Amino acid sequence: MDFHLNTLKGACSCGQEHPIYVEDIILEAGCLNRLPEIIGNSSLAERKIYGIVCDTNTYGVCGKRVSELFPDASVVCMPAENLHADEKGVALLESMLQDAGRPFDLLLAVGSGTVHDLTRYVGYQKEIPFVSVPTAASVDGFVSTVAAMTWYGFKKSLIAASPVLVVADSEIISRAPYRLTASGVSDLLGKYTALLDWKIAHLVMGEHICERICQLEEEALLAVRESLSGLKDGQTGAYERLMYALLLSGIAMQMMGNSRPASGAEHHFSHLWEMHVINEPIDAYHGEKVGVGLLNCCTIYYSLADAIENNRVRIRPSSGIETDLLDRCLPKELADDMKKENTPYPLDAIDPAQLEAKLPVIAELIRTLPTPEEVYNLLREAGAPALMEEIGLDSKLTALSAALAPYIRSRLTLLKLTKLFDIDKKGNII
Ligand SMILES: [Zn+2]
Ligand SMILES: [Zn+2]
Repeated sequence: MDFHLNTLKGACSCGQEHPIYVEDIILEAGCLNRLPEIIGNSSLAERKIYGIVCDTNTYGVCGKRVSELFPDASVVCMPAENLHADEKGVALLESMLQDAGRPFDLLLAVGSGTVHDLTRYVGYQKEIPFVSVPTAASVDGFVSTVAAMTWYGFKKSLIAASPVLVVADSEIISRAPYRLTASGVSDLLGKYTALLDWKIAHLVMGEHICERICQLEEEALLAVRESLSGLKDGQTGAYERLMYALLLSGIAMQMMGNSRPASGAEHHFSHLWEMHVINEPIDAYHGEKVGVGLLNCCTIYYSLADAIENNRVRIRPSSGIETDLLDRCLPKELADDMKKENTPYPLDAIDPAQLEAKLPVIAELIRTLPTPEEVYNLLREAGAPALMEEIGLDSKLTALSAALAPYIRSRLTLLKLTKLFDIDKKGNII
């Protein structure tokens, strides 16, 4: 599949120059066998000392084959159990690379999200470029320039490197455990609210937005919906569509220089639950948490649209960060981190009268989202969790999650904006 990278990058009508760091993306059945040729034809051709980074799961499905293609390479195989993109995973990979005792000049990340985030972060620190060999269509972060890490308990996006090449073999990807695939679908469906949040931040605060990048995400959403029926039957073409969508979303983030096009309030729910501050640790993949966050967001957003259209919403001036809420619910260090992240507090800059005048447009934008029922059905069709209980969370935590999630990032989302909304529950004008 061709990503037309050359037509996407460069000067744009939005006034920005969009960079794309990944040199080439190969997505086709059987392309793994061409890996030596693909690297040989790229800017990495002169590099000779390879480290194949995988885990004990991905070694069997793909790492071994990669090591046969490069007999001189060292295999750095991390134990899959309890492997996470966190400070412990980073220390483990650093020590394993050290123990291999070779001056690596190229890393090959063979795996899904965690292997990629660890490789991209450690590779960036050591100034070693890497090639991405995804083994599952599980996340949209393969070409990300930031590593999504839990760093000493706090969810952070740390600066890291994009892969120079992505070699995605759809035959391998179609054989991944189905739960990983469903998780990739959920991560992608999260773009519905991510895009809406971006459009609303543009409308309310004049945040920069790019039509070309929005269109890429919308194309990705179409592609994922088209892929749904074929995924469960294991159709290679459907996996290729899904992987295309995920990589397209990753390219959108590269072009923007941050995750704004692909991550809004639905991701903030996911990040909050990953920090285990209001819930016990849960055994759910990134995309699964995003899917549940997406349904929460759509439900809240649609009830907002109803309230706006029934003239039940008034805007109050910002009363600043809810320090009481943060201090009550979070360990001191995390509460302080979130206050810092939100200073200056974006809601302080919003004029209540101006926001009130924009409410009808906000309601119209919300109505462009799939309804909560449609989102529920899409997640069901994908075989992905949709409800809090299905990922091991008590549904009683929904309201508290919705109150805390907007503090995960300073980024303005509609969920954050609702902190300025006075909603009359009885239908009377306040
Ligand atoms: Zn995501
Ligand atoms: Zn643009």
